[in-house]
Amino acid sequence: MINETHDKDLTSWVPGAEVRGGDFPIQNLPFGAFVPKEGGEARLGVAIGDYVLDLRAAAEQGLVGGDSEPLARACRETTLNALMALGSQHWRALRLTLSRLLRTDSDRRPQTQPLLWQKDKVTMLVPASIGDYTDFYTSIHHATNAGRIFRPENPLFPNFTHLPVGYHGRASSIVVSGHPCRRPWGQQRRAPDSPPVFEPTTKLDFELELGIFVGPGNSLGKPIPIADAAEHVFGLCLLNDWSARDVQAWEYQPLGPFLGKSFLTSISPWVVTMEALAPFRQPISRSPEAPPAPGYLSDPDLDRCSAIDIEVEAALETAAMRDKHMGAAVVGKAKFAQQYWSVFQMLVHHASNGCNLRPGDLLGTGTISGPGPGEEGCLLEKTVNGARLVELPSGETRRFLDDGDEVILRARCTRHGFAPIGFGECRGRIEPPMAPVGSPCR
Ligand code: MN
Repeated sequence: MINETHDKDLTSWVPGAEVRGGDFPIQNLPFGAFVPKEGGEARLGVAIGDYVLDLRAAAEQGLVGGDSEPLARACRETTLNALMALGSQHWRALRLTLSRLLRTDSDRRPQTQPLLWQKDKVTMLVPASIGDYTDFYTSIHHATNAGRIFRPENPLFPNFTHLPVGYHGRASSIVVSGHPCRRPWGQQRRAPDSPPVFEPTTKLDFELELGIFVGPGNSLGKPIPIADAAEHVFGLCLLNDWSARDVQAWEYQPLGPFLGKSFLTSISPWVVTMEALAPFRQPISRSPEAPPAPGYLSDPDLDRCSAIDIEVEAALETAAMRDKHMGAAVVGKAKFAQQYWSVFQMLVHHASNGCNLRPGDLLGTGTISGPGPGEEGCLLEKTVNGARLVELPSGETRRFLDDGDEVILRARCTRHGFAPIGFGECRGRIEPPMAPVGSPCR
């Protein structure tokens, strides 16, 4: 899986790519979609240092996809769906071409340089046309901590260690980083025995997750064998599954999350490919007491490298912190490699009943939390459903999110012998609720 594009000694001629600790060195090369601020059509791009390489222009000039018409066509699209549909052979070929174009010693630099956009000259878009979105619940630490709040004696449901639990989310309200999060209205109960009210949520929360973009996918009625799973995962992004906990608590039984989740989901604009993540793969780790995974979710070869060592974090910046230029405070930090179920098991389980996954479909990993304090991937867990306060460097405290608060998700991969790579950011700022629905005009 490791090839010349992962060589830690590779450098790029593009400014910013050489910065140590930067998210987008030449070993990363994530894909996204953007529109130039000066105007023009949406197009695909590749992040490199402080710049975005215009993939459409590169294809039009024959710099990429020169020997594959389907690949050249996919590079000229306005979303990543066609590229995702092509499969790993094409993804590998494109990555190798891009790596060679952008290397310090590239003889194509003169043709490539004019195709770079400064990051601040473009607006990033949702990178794919997302037909379906499914959110999982696969961190055993999150499931245990969150479960303990409501069922102290029995936090983990018995199904957790046998299947990746998930629910069907809402694709239409997925937005890209930077889009505000307006505090939603919803039905909720303020106390266990009081009648429900329809009001703006007072328990607005984030969920620190990764998003998984599906590659070629499967046709209806044809499950994906676990041995083929890696061929169907294009890459990962950051995902914030905004949640209204009071709405969620009242509505979720017996059919699961609905309006407490569907008002908004934010993702980062850059999709880090599975190939870029190859150096950070490791065996999936489970406690010796864990029951064996069922046969359709087990593959000895894949199990040796199905976890991905990604450090994820969520930071919070209040309006007061912003005014004082204090920077955001990290409120949760966790390791994705500790996730109980792998991205491949989520995908294969999803298709195991014959449900068809399509290129550009998005799967959320579920909140990523670790076992210890400071490793909580949401405020529900961190504040024990509002019972404890989060103290911020500004002297402010939070139980849940206030208007003006901004949540910033980040993720990074580091491993000795390889260049570290990052995911960029997924940001969203809370805006006050809309005027009451159905209220008389006055
Ligand atoms: Mn979630």
